[in-house]
Amino acid sequence: MSVCVVGHSNPDTDSVAAAISFANYLNATGTKAVATMQIAAADLNPESKLVLKKFGVAAPETMTDAAGKDVALVDFSDIGQAPANIDKANVVAVVDHHKIGDLTTNGPIFFYAKPVGCSCTVLYEMYKNNNIAISKEIAGVMVCAILSDTVNFKSPTCTPDDKAAVKALLPLAGVSDQDALFMDMLKAKSSIEGVAIKDLIFRDYKDFDMKGNKVGIGQIELATLEQVAGIREDLYKAIADIKKDGRHSVLFMLTDVVKEGTDLLVVSDDPALIEKAFKGKISGQSMWVDGMMSRKKQTVPPLQAAFGC
Ligand code: MG
Ligand code: MG
Ligand code: MG
Repeated sequence: MSVCVVGHSNPDTDSVAAAISFANYLNATGTKAVATMQIAAADLNPESKLVLKKFGVAAPETMTDAAGKDVALVDFSDIGQAPANIDKANVVAVVDHHKIGDLTTNGPIFFYAKPVGCSCTVLYEMYKNNNIAISKEIAGVMVCAILSDTVNFKSPTCTPDDKAAVKALLPLAGVSDQDALFMDMLKAKSSIEGVAIKDLIFRDYKDFDMKGNKVGIGQIELATLEQVAGIREDLYKAIADIKKDGRHSVLFMLTDVVKEGTDLLVVSDDPALIEKAFKGKISGQSMWVDGMMSRKKQTVPPLQAAFGC
């Protein structure tokens, strides 16, 4: 039985690229493995689609039920982000760069996580340490994942390890212009043409529990806020709708990757608490938070602190 390597639900480019490159690594080291993801290829986000097309790599197979399977997790270890019936699967490995989640196993497993900007940076180290050759295709998807997760090194989650991995992978991938590659990905990621408002919001959205309060936070990364000028009202109405479903607050991060900050759309039972968390003033529907790029590092922790978590 092949090991199904799978990233988190609602997969981003790291979850896709890490599944592909860890499956390739396992096969190269004598364990039969197949890259999978929790959605159909047609539903993949536009950035990941572009990356796979650019480097001629097939999308991972769809795998939504883990019952009875051998599985390896990449880019997460939370039950909430896993395929159905993960408790009836045999989890054999985890490669990640997040906090350890709530998944437990019955036996000892391969578990490798580092506090770096991307799962593919961890995988690059594994390839390097074990002298496993990295093909042009694998190098291509890995480097794209690192640029995506670290926002081309601008995210505070980026570490020297991520930069070193990119430096080594770019020539292997046959890429000479890192910034041009990133801008191509950003354009694909932030293209909103023909995308339904709700799809745009849920493309990168997570609910959090903050002292018993449900708080939703979505994010879209943009080359310029001008890209969403025409749909701001619709976005605001949509998050107000999402809030009605039992949430204390819903925040939507319109992140300007070039200006390095976020226009934060806010719908909340307690706007003053949000203002306190981000040390600013909501004017109209939103507040500008200078330097805010990362939900994980810059949005969630101040909010948790404001909620007294
Ligand atoms: Mg991810
Ligand atoms: Mg990641
Ligand atoms: Mg991400």
